[in-house]
Amino acid sequence: QPTESHAKLGYLKYFEKKESLLPHAWIVVRIDGKGFHNFSEKHDFEKPNDPRSIELMNKAAVAVMEKFPEVIFSYGQSDEYSFAIHRYSKMCDRQGDKIISNIVSIFAGVYVYNWQRCFGEVELQYCPAFDARVVLYPNNSCLRDYFSWRQADCHINNMYNTCFWALVQRGLCSRQKADEILCGTFSKDKRSILLDRFNMDYDKEDAISRKGTVIFRDRPRKDLCASSTGCEVEEGAGCGGITVGHFDVIKDEFWRERPWILG
Ligand code: ATP
Ligand code: ATP
Ligand code: MG
Ligand code: MG
Ligand code: MG
Ligand code: MG
Repeated sequence: QPTESHAKLGYLKYFEKKESLLPHAWIVVRIDGKGFHNFSEKHDFEKPNDPRSIELMNKAAVAVMEKFPEVIFSYGQSDEYSFAIHRYSKMCDRQGDKIISNIVSIFAGVYVYNWQRCFGEVELQYCPAFDARVVLYPNNSCLRDYFSWRQADCHINNMYNTCFWALVQRGLCSRQKADEILCGTFSKDKRSILLDRFNMDYDKEDAISRKGTVIFRDRPRKDLCASSTGCEVEEGAGCGGITVGHFDVIKDEFWRERPWILG
């Protein structure tokens, strides 16, 4: 009986849409913590940059890259991470929903799995959620612009937050007052607030906060090229070591010195 109805109901499979992402385009998946403004307050994150959460985010991103060798480059800041999947990759048959859900679920799982390792006594009050989207970029120039955009966003937010929290924590301003002081200021104004009032040289702040985190593979993936057959690769096979650092990816230098990343 159940076997018979199972066969009859097989037609339901045809309602599933199997749309595959445009071939030869870079696939970028960006995940972002849901309501991390509240999540960070609930878990007493140090402001502006709690190193424990950054470490957790980075561990989760490394786990994504270990699980999915087709992810060749990642960039993270605050509660977000972007993953670039090689343009010639056949990961999950290039099915967008499978790619997104695989990446975001392993990311969230590893974030929670390692919580205690990073936060020690601070108990996890509830499980964080992350949203995810997929974007296609048709060429290397767009892909580089994408990462420049995210790193510039990191820079702008971090400079604002560094000033804001210096004013609140050390300048004893209310949050509202700090907002008023910073309203309409330019980058150079913020630098001089930091220098004049708090003797802080913005450029000497930690690179992890100013630049965010970059993760890439140390060796080229020979199987990922236009002529590859796209056979499934063994997990982690031939992808070499993974480097985690706080590089400037806006300047040419980073890409010039590592031509295999976008190769
Ligand atoms: P949404 O659900 O729309 O993404 P959100 O509250 O997560 O809302 P975001 O714009 O993503 O808003 O901003 C993330 C916020 O999380 C930051 O503004 C900051 O307050 C907090 N946050 C994230 N990471 C850290 C960190 N390492 N240290 C301190 N605060 C952090
Ligand atoms: P894919 O990544 O393509 O989904 P898969 O190995 O997860 O591959 P599925 O078709 O999803 O394959 O099948 C899930 C398999 O997981 C089942 O065939 C079964 O072997 C195992 N499984 C799932 N849930 C249970 C369970 N509660 N008890 C025992 N085995 C289970
Ligand atoms: Mg969001
Ligand atoms: Mg968020
Ligand atoms: Mg965010
Ligand atoms: Mg399965």
